Amino acid sequence: MWHKDTVEWIDIELTSYCNIHCPGCLRQEMNNEVGHILNKSYIKLNDLKKWIPPGYLPNLQVINFCGSVDEPTTHPQFIDIVDYFLSFTGVNIATNGSTRTVNFWKELGERKVSVFFGIDGIDQQSLEQYRVGSNFKKVQENWRTFINAGGKATWQFIVFDHNHHLMEKAKQMSIDEGFKKFRTIWSHRTNSGEVKYG
Ligand code: SF4
Repeated sequence: MWHKDTVEWIDIELTSYCNIHCPGCLRQEMNNEVGHILNKSYIKLNDLKKWIPPGYLPNLQVINFCGSVDEPTTHPQFIDIVDYFLSFTGVNIATNGSTRTVNFWKELGERKVSVFFGIDGIDQQSLEQYRVGSNFKKVQENWRTFINAGGKATWQFIVFDHNHHLMEKAKQMSIDEGFKKFRTIWSHRTNSGEVKYG
């Protein structure tokens, strides 16, 4: 049975904002239903403090800003939110990486948090096949700044038919660039017009 003392992991969608348009994202797939509530709201740090005060979940290990239907780094209070949770638990962040300034990514890296960068290609052309609106140069500048500042970066590569042949190159790039891990996941969003590989 569920009990607050057994909770170790919480996924939080911090905002209703995202700066890009992945075709398999529910933001796009269900746009007729949800379009009117997108890009309108942020969860406030004060509310997070009320909902999840230190010690309330005694076995909490990780707060995961999961980025499934939002881009957490667009939140204007993001660094303060990360600092709040880091004061009593671990933090993981999933991002498209094509946001903010290098100063922001430096500040995040200095906190030595774990960040999963969603990079499903090795250059602008291959990245934007799925990450529509993302800027490869900006993502690259941001991951380099983050890693150089001490952040723990994971390269997350969603495998599609269009990029399967680039997987080994991406893996080598992740090693050369100082990522701690390379993680593949297979696309399951089959209604998006994207094809599941294999
Ligand atoms: S980056 Fe994440 S939230 Fe934004 S469109 Fe892509 S899957 Fe959706």
